[in-house]
Amino acid sequence: TAPTAPLRARAEIDLAALRANVRALRAHAPGAAVMAVVKSDAYGHGAVPCARAAVEAGARWLGTATPEEALALREAGLPGRIMCWLWTPGGPWREAIEADLDVSVSGLWALRELVAAAREAGVPARVQLKADTGLGRNGCQPGEDWAELVAEALRAQSEGLLTVTGLWSHFACADEPGHPSIAAQLTLFREMLAYAEGRGVRPEVRHIANSPATLTLPESHFDLVRTGIATYGISPSPELGVPADFGLRPVMTLSASIALVKRVPGGHGVSYGHHYVTPGETTLGLVPVGYADGIPRHASGAGPVLVDGKWRTVAGRIAMDQFVVDLGGDEPPTGTRAVLFGPGGRGEPTAEDWAQAAGTIAYEIVTRIGTRVPRVYV
Ligand code: PLP
Repeated sequence: TAPTAPLRARAEIDLAALRANVRALRAHAPGAAVMAVVKSDAYGHGAVPCARAAVEAGARWLGTATPEEALALREAGLPGRIMCWLWTPGGPWREAIEADLDVSVSGLWALRELVAAAREAGVPARVQLKADTGLGRNGCQPGEDWAELVAEALRAQSEGLLTVTGLWSHFACADEPGHPSIAAQLTLFREMLAYAEGRGVRPEVRHIANSPATLTLPESHFDLVRTGIATYGISPSPELGVPADFGLRPVMTLSASIALVKRVPGGHGVSYGHHYVTPGETTLGLVPVGYADGIPRHASGAGPVLVDGKWRTVAGRIAMDQFVVDLGGDEPPTGTRAVLFGPGGRGEPTAEDWAQAAGTIAYEIVTRIGTRVPRVYV
């Protein structure tokens, strides 16, 4: 319906790279199943096509934050195990149970609401109990709280209202190898597992590893690894290494068509606030994407773009729908492709370069690319 949209901008999604990443992750964690984390529209890459590709490459589980995201995968026909972990009151728990989703709970309120939904559905819920081993976010506190949660889950299980399918947790600092919290979380996780298993919980899966732990911490793999960012070929942190160090290939390439090229004199203020003033006569190129498309405004004056084999930098402010690059006198024809980021193999910047320019992490760069940018699967 919008034939010009793909020409304005597009995010090419290389599903062969995604499949290769899943295979690489399976090799990093040979004793564990891989859960491809496809929340937030697969970190901006498109949930359903990415989930399908991940399953084809051997991911045995899919993971989402919300139950709605998980239900959408089921509705699209994805079979197998799907887990969602962001429990909120009043969620579609009956639908989740009927769709055979695994649902995480971190406390008694959540457990009771799920049990009530299972009673209504007449089907036992699949429940994964989440332990807070030190992230300080979601998850059940150790000690009395954990004891109560385990006891109540076992009671409901004996009444046929649920099955405890998993015991799990999440790291706070896995992207900082050697951080003392890593060993502390692993120790506490083992203690909380031992407590629950000692009481009679027989989980199918025990898991704590995210991408950085999958890549650097084999002792954290247990039965399952939950890999998000690495599935999309992005290193969890530049300090850990570049994607190629782990056998990963970036999946998304974001580009836009230069929409206007014009010659301007020196001293010409560019974009809102005139934070860039041309140092001499030059040419300006208009790149028709902006912060409404997820291009971070914090990268104004800093974000890199490849045009005709040369790196150019965003000149002045990134606006809602467009930004400008100083082409230094070059006059490429309109329609020339400006590559904001990609795998980097053809000289283009990477999502990591944009993260550095914007003072954020590459996770945020890809995840925020907006729905106005069509995803093109290649
Ligand atoms: N597990 C949980 C609970 C998460 O919230 C996330 C993402 O934040 C992941 C796994 C995947 O993390 P990563 O993208 O670092 O692999």
